[in-house]
Amino acid sequence: MKAGVVYAREDIRYEDRETPKAKKGQVLIKVKYTGICGSDIPRVNGDACHFFPNILGHEFSGTVAELGEGVTSLRVGDRVAGVPLVPCMHCEDCQKGHYSLCKKYRFIGSSEFGSFAEYVVVPEKNVVVFVDNISFEQGAFFEPATVALHGLRSVSYQSGKTVAVLGTGTIGMFVLQWAKIFGAKKVVVFDIEKERLDLGKRLGATEGINTLNPDFMEEAQKQAGTSGFDYVFETAGNTATMKMAFELAGNKAQLGFIGTPTKELCFSVKEWENLNRKELKLTGSWMSYSSPFPGVEWDYTSVYMGLGELKVDDALIFRKIHLSQIADAFKLYQKPGAVKGKILIDSEC
Ligand SMILES: [Zn+2]
Ligand SMILES: [Zn+2]
Repeated sequence: MKAGVVYAREDIRYEDRETPKAKKGQVLIKVKYTGICGSDIPRVNGDACHFFPNILGHEFSGTVAELGEGVTSLRVGDRVAGVPLVPCMHCEDCQKGHYSLCKKYRFIGSSEFGSFAEYVVVPEKNVVVFVDNISFEQGAFFEPATVALHGLRSVSYQSGKTVAVLGTGTIGMFVLQWAKIFGAKKVVVFDIEKERLDLGKRLGATEGINTLNPDFMEEAQKQAGTSGFDYVFETAGNTATMKMAFELAGNKAQLGFIGTPTKELCFSVKEWENLNRKELKLTGSWMSYSSPFPGVEWDYTSVYMGLGELKVDDALIFRKIHLSQIADAFKLYQKPGAVKGKILIDSEC
């Protein structure tokens, strides 16, 4: 088969590899599309890759090509989305169903070979079947959609409330949609790019507020009414948006931090004190799993995408790039801000 193999920092090659076999309890997937995740970029353009040579790729769709011994829940030809986490299932966290917190996990596309290839092998439980009216492009968005839903569920979310979503990357766009699906009275998205805010509105946001606008806080207060938003979800991982989250939150609000920070943070006393003065609840969120594995995050994504309520707008896809051009795809990320939206790698050969 063909694969995009990482050999060293900034060295990813399109080459022939032996097609893997489905062993007992495993399935072989013929890959259609794989999204490049933010976490893949330092694995290629930085030093975050665990070993070499390696095949990355964990946000994927495809069809079941071969069943290993003992696999009963799937059929050859099933349209599936990949579930990348392989928890140990034995540690205390796994036994409690907190799979995202497992310390001895394997991860397809990082510690095990992933889907920047024509084929990938995964355990039987690591696929979710989807219906015909979900396209393979949409199927490659299951993983980020589940991350967003896990984040929403990290707070005790109730309908009829006001929601602020900070950052309109792929995760932010899904958080806003989940917030609507589960009955938000109002969802306001915040970003610095007009096109992304417009896309947010197209996907159901009540309002999009550009934080480059000096009066944006007043505008936000107007939208939130009374003391501030009931729920604030931070999806960018920027210091500025994290600080903003504390400002936008109303009294007794709940904050879900989904974005992963990449720089040291420093909060002034006044900024941090919001947490005390407003009696805020701050929760972090990591990955997208719950019990029974892989969790409702995956079930709901399959259901709501199938119903067309969870939308994968074409504008979420920045570009589709063939596997043979994977090195060029990663080069695009070297220019900050050049990639707007998700790049999908097309594995069809
Ligand atoms: Zn990812
Ligand atoms: Zn475990």
